[in-house]
Amino acid sequence: MRRFEPRVSYRLESVIEHWHLSATSRWHGAQHRIGLTGGIASGKSSVARYLQDLGIVVLDADRYAHEALKAGSQASEAVLKRYGRQVEAAQDCDIEQSSGQRNINRRELGRIVFKNQDERRWLEQTIHPLVLARFDLELAKHPETSTVVLMIPLLFEADLTELVSEIWVVHCLPAQQLERLKQRDGLSTAEAEARINAQWPMSQKCEQADLLLDNCSAPIGWKRQIQTRLARINPSEGLTP
Ligand code: ADP
Repeated sequence: MRRFEPRVSYRLESVIEHWHLSATSRWHGAQHRIGLTGGIASGKSSVARYLQDLGIVVLDADRYAHEALKAGSQASEAVLKRYGRQVEAAQDCDIEQSSGQRNINRRELGRIVFKNQDERRWLEQTIHPLVLARFDLELAKHPETSTVVLMIPLLFEADLTELVSEIWVVHCLPAQQLERLKQRDGLSTAEAEARINAQWPMSQKCEQADLLLDNCSAPIGWKRQIQTRLARINPSEGLTP
């Protein structure tokens, strides 16, 4: 049984090797690690917020990926070098404003990579090792925590199932997914479909779930499921939503 040993200093190559994973195995360390995944706009963040309200530590791959592209970072400079001025944000239109450093226009970057599979792969290969290294660091901050949640949208696609003890998949109907994505991110139908089609189909993710969280209707259903599951994982810990 392979155990994960937190390391604070690392080289990216060793991180990649360390996290080289097989699709079928699971994390068997003492800490219980729940992998929270599902299709884009299926409701992962909604579930994550609920878990945080229960006092559970949630580590968010999307947040780390976002932070990996902050102005002046190695990844951000690599992106600017590859795509040039077309992905450079105007000074007053993007999130971070830092002295003299160029920000990425994330919307434009999204347009490029969701139109071109090779570019999407390049971006993933640039960002994923940084996200994995960040998980390493964040997990090392919670050595005594009995249960943590790793929210990883591309858990299956990136072959990361060995990071987690069990997998929860949030799902909804395809038409709901499309509509929620368009609404949330202000995308056209074609743009939203490109993002959905870049991932595994929701049905394929559902087949590999240890727990399926149905987000087709009101959250009350999956909230009950989560409470039941957590009570089974940690019978001694009272959870008050
Ligand atoms: P993800 O994190 O999987 O991308 P989100 O949790 O951000 O998805 O949900 C996508 C969008 O759908 C958000 O705007 C959210 O408010 C909305 N949403 C989530 N769950 C429901 C639900 N049960 N009914 C209606 N809208 C929902």
